[in-house]
Amino acid sequence: MDDIERAKQIIEEKFACVQTAPSMKTALGEPFGIPLGNFVHGRLVTALRLLGFKRVFETDFGAELRVMEESTELKERMDRGENLPLLTSCCPSWVGICVKKYPDLIPYLSTCKSPMEMVSSLAKSYLTYEKKLGDIGIVAIMPCYAKKMETVRGETDVSLTAMELVKWMREEGIQLEKLPFGVYDAPLGMASSAGTIYASSGGVAEATMRTFTQRYCGGCVIEHFYNEKTKLEGMREVVFRFADYEIKIGMVEGIKAIDEFCQGLLAGKYKDFDLVEMMFCRGGCVGGNGMPNAGNEEYIRSRIKALRKYDDCAVIKSAHENPLIKEVYDQYLGQPFGKRAREILHHKDFKKIFGN
Ligand code: SF4
Repeated sequence: MDDIERAKQIIEEKFACVQTAPSMKTALGEPFGIPLGNFVHGRLVTALRLLGFKRVFETDFGAELRVMEESTELKERMDRGENLPLLTSCCPSWVGICVKKYPDLIPYLSTCKSPMEMVSSLAKSYLTYEKKLGDIGIVAIMPCYAKKMETVRGETDVSLTAMELVKWMREEGIQLEKLPFGVYDAPLGMASSAGTIYASSGGVAEATMRTFTQRYCGGCVIEHFYNEKTKLEGMREVVFRFADYEIKIGMVEGIKAIDEFCQGLLAGKYKDFDLVEMMFCRGGCVGGNGMPNAGNEEYIRSRIKALRKYDDCAVIKSAHENPLIKEVYDQYLGQPFGKRAREILHHKDFKKIFGN
């Protein structure tokens, strides 16, 4: 049975939910002739309902949960002066490389689950038991094949790439360009633009720093960690100061840069960094291998530009300002990085998940 058939089985047998990665907001229009850079998430929601899903959620919401958790985790590590720099762990390709090739760096990884896993874990606990939605099955629409690796944990039932979803829609005769706009479902379907820029180069670090600086430094970092001259591969850094903090951020993209960075860190370099965003793909998740026009720099840059424009126009730009994020913590999770949040939103053992 291929993954499209498995997704259809979820629709038949369970209370079927689906989540869409932030990178889908623009890219999915490309195979349907919708001009580059246009937003299609409203039409995408309608298409997913036509396929039979009962609830449609945003993985962007999981990115925001991750911002809440990771910014708190970073603060704790900075206070203790341990395991710094904190290396992001939302990219399973990078985490797999770390576990297999650089196991001595595992303690530096953030223990946060990926945004996809956070949405699935929360749906299967909060929505199943607190909201009584029954036996939930979750399909995730993701930018890459690596996300399928994460489904072995059983939180997400099926992960489809963008192009697998396009194939499924075509088989069902769905013409995305002709559909009316739909809206995502609460509570896991409303995100600030911090969750959306997560899919673009520098977006993970930028989203995390917006919340970190507002919660702990009495200000808000407003600079963008990407511009049109930014290279889509390699390592770059940004340093800023707030009150008592001088914060040094790194962003590493591409396999060559990952290897160079890891070897440098093991040799004692980069110890003055606080947070390093680690991404396997050029340009971040918008450059994933399961996307339309995979690997094409013009398309990757146009997607980043579109997501950044979305951010510039957004009213709410930080995860901790999202009222639904506040509600989920108030009603269910408790404190960020607290006992229940750690049980549901964090990994206990990376080797168990990625070691085989
Ligand atoms: S950076 Fe690439 S491999 Fe990593 S999660 Fe994003 S799309 Fe997947």
